[in-house]
Amino acid sequence: MTVLRKNLIDGEWLGEAGSRNINPSNTNDIVGEYASAGPEQAKQAIAAAKAAFPAWSRSGPLARHAVLKKTSDEIMARKDEIGRSLAREEGKTLAEGVGETIRAAQIFDFFAGETLRLSGEMVPSVRPGVGVEMTREGVGVVGIITPWNFPIAIPAWKIAPALAYGNTIVFKPAELVPESAWTIVDILHRAGLPKGVLNLVMGKGSVVGQAMLDNPDVNAISFTGSVGTGKRVAAASVEHMRKFQLEMGGKNPLVVLDDADLAVAVDCAVNGAYFSTGQRCTASSRLIVTDGIHDRFVEAIKERLDKLVIGDALDAKTQIGPVVDQNQLKQDEDYIAIGRQEGAELAFGGDRLERGAPGFYLQPALFVGSTNAMRISREEIFGPVANVIRVKDYDEALAVANDTPFGLTSGICTTSLKHATHFKRNSEAGMVMVNLPTAGVDFHVPFGGRKGSSYGPREQGRYAMEFYTTVKTAYTFAG
Ligand code: ADP
Repeated sequence: MTVLRKNLIDGEWLGEAGSRNINPSNTNDIVGEYASAGPEQAKQAIAAAKAAFPAWSRSGPLARHAVLKKTSDEIMARKDEIGRSLAREEGKTLAEGVGETIRAAQIFDFFAGETLRLSGEMVPSVRPGVGVEMTREGVGVVGIITPWNFPIAIPAWKIAPALAYGNTIVFKPAELVPESAWTIVDILHRAGLPKGVLNLVMGKGSVVGQAMLDNPDVNAISFTGSVGTGKRVAAASVEHMRKFQLEMGGKNPLVVLDDADLAVAVDCAVNGAYFSTGQRCTASSRLIVTDGIHDRFVEAIKERLDKLVIGDALDAKTQIGPVVDQNQLKQDEDYIAIGRQEGAELAFGGDRLERGAPGFYLQPALFVGSTNAMRISREEIFGPVANVIRVKDYDEALAVANDTPFGLTSGICTTSLKHATHFKRNSEAGMVMVNLPTAGVDFHVPFGGRKGSSYGPREQGRYAMEFYTTVKTAYTFAG
């Protein structure tokens, strides 16, 4: 018997069974049944959030601190159970699921603290006797639209600052991961949020997500997902003159120079390209390697890939879980075929794997002999597929790294301070890593990219305030 998880609208759990969620490690395993909202429910949720905004925005820091702290504490106390459930519905390994859950708890804790630190500025006016105050206020109703690859962390890093700064929320999670979304909303609801402050509308992006984009009462939208949907969010938001923030794809380069420590470079590449089944917008999908280390690097990676344990996400020995669903698996396989047609050499993997239960298992794939002009170098694959681009020196490596429509993260493996420093200064990415994987970032500092990867203010850390607040400049003449 699966329990029906409902939508939360104006403090009430509502809705009938609409969709089922399956475990990508074993498609016979039904994770749960979920209500599916339509345009009418989206409208009700937005109206509830609008009605709840005046009181919540004036509630003061203590009430917000209490809810966020309580939420953090419960998530942390239940990290193993929630992490397991996340791994079951998304397919990332248990360690990754628990790690992500801990991160969500840390994010709520961080923003609980931020509620008590909100400050403004006061300056003398250019007019004698006049004072000027600059304060920050919540934006209003925030639409939060999230993808499936970080089912708890991404909702956490949008919901926590939105609430901390006094906004109300309509939250539309990805269709593939409703259990994680429901869990986080259930915890926040029980932590004492007033009705209407946080509304959950699970359902199809084209229906319930689109209804949010088209509603003028949504004052801001924070979106993480594909470039195509991001552009729709942007166009609809401009139409309604609302604030918006987009986190989209990446085609992140990891540069490996001749002077790199080979073990560090291989660790960075394997982690960055293949962990979380390569399903991270920060994944290192382009491995840009100089001549002198190229062959040793490729051999060492192949050796490591051969030893990786690919299997059921819930098995503690598994290092790489399944691909999230059939559509993503097809996309990965299509790109592997495209890479071959383009003339790249598949040096390792790329085959489907059988693992007892029916699941979406794919052997990590490594291409060599690829160029930066190939589609596998330019388009985001979002799977356990990476390609090596051979270059002659650092200058060519940097040029290739920056030659991409994206700009989320980048990395360099080198023991040269000169090259590391030059790369940090000249890489056209929002986040740059030296001797570290391109994926895996801290929760208390800004996250975001440049070019086609991101739009709008940064997420996470204190920088999140920029999006979730609006500035007021008030003048007082006291006589
Ligand atoms: P992905 O390929 O990662 O699923 P999408 O951009 O399709 O990326 O999905 C990211 C989020 O955007 C999901 O919650 C999805 O339901 C939502 N979404 C998809 N289409 C629309 C749309 N037309 N309007 C609003 N949200 C949408």
